[in-house]
Amino acid sequence: MDYVGRIFRPPSEANSLLVQVTVGCSHNRCAYCDMYRDKKFRPKPPEQITKDILEAASAGAVNRRVFLCDGDALILPTRKLLAVLAQIREHLPWIERVGVYGDTRSVGRKSTEELTALREAGLGIVYHGMESGDDEVLLAIDKGGTRAESIETAAKLREAGIIHSVMVLLGVGGVARSQQHATNTASALTAMQPQYVGTLTTTVVPATPLAQAEARGDFELPGKFQMLQELRTIVAESNFTATRFSANHASNYLPIRAEMPRDKEAVVLALDEVIARGDERMLKPEALRGL
Ligand code: SF4
Repeated sequence: MDYVGRIFRPPSEANSLLVQVTVGCSHNRCAYCDMYRDKKFRPKPPEQITKDILEAASAGAVNRRVFLCDGDALILPTRKLLAVLAQIREHLPWIERVGVYGDTRSVGRKSTEELTALREAGLGIVYHGMESGDDEVLLAIDKGGTRAESIETAAKLREAGIIHSVMVLLGVGGVARSQQHATNTASALTAMQPQYVGTLTTTVVPATPLAQAEARGDFELPGKFQMLQELRTIVAESNFTATRFSANHASNYLPIRAEMPRDKEAVVLALDEVIARGDERMLKPEALRGL
C-alpha cells in the first residue's frame, strides 16, 4: 500500500483497511491541528488507488471495513469517489462499510442525491470534526464552517442515509469562551441528532496557530476540571433520541461510553462526583493520554 506521510484515522477504524485517496487536508488551517501541515493537499493518482485496492484484494478478506484517508477525502468530486467505491465493491466484495472524514465544506458541496449515490455505492459513515457549536469559537479556530452549516450537514447526511459521527473538542474555546462553547455545542448536537458523538480534549501542539495565540496571551487552555465541566454541560444540556456518546479517545482525561438518552443521568452524576472531588488521581495520568 502506498502511504504518503503520517496517516490518521478515527479510533473506531482501527481494524479497517486504510486506502489513501487524497494527500493532506484541503483546508489545513484549523488553529489546533498539525496533522497535515507538512503535506500539500492533492488527490492521489487513480492508478495508485487502483494498485492499492488490488494489492489489498490479493491479501484476501482481512478487513471488513475500509477507511478512505486523508484529512477530508470526501472533498473529492463525487464521480471520483464513486469510481473508488466501485473498485472496492468489485475487488473487495467482503467490505461491509466504507468510512471517510468529511465536514461542512465537503458535505456542503454535494447534493443530497450525490450523497445518496455514494451511500448506495458503499459509503456508510462520515466522521465530522465539528469541534464546537459556537460560531465565535469556530471563527477563532479558523474551522472554515459555521454552526448552521454543521446542522445542515447533519440533515443532509441523514436524508442520504449515511451514518454521521461528530467530534467535538473540549477546551478549544479557551477559558474565555469555555461556557458558551459547551452550551452552544450541546444545542447544536441536539439539533443535529447524529448517531455518534465523540469528545476529544484539546492539546496545544507546538508551532500551530493555537500555540502562537497561547504565547501571545490570546488563548488560555482550560484546566482539566474545567474541561470536564464542559463535558458535563454538553451531556446535561443536550437531548438525544438515539446517540452513542463517547469520550474514550486517547486524549481524554475521563473515558466515557454511553447510550443516550438512556445513560444521560448516570453520566452527569459520575461527572459531578469527579468534578466535586477535584482529585486528579481519578483522571487518566498525563503520560497515558494520547495527544
Ligand atoms: S479540517 Fe481536520 S485535518 Fe483539516 S486542518 Fe482542520 S482539523 Fe486538521
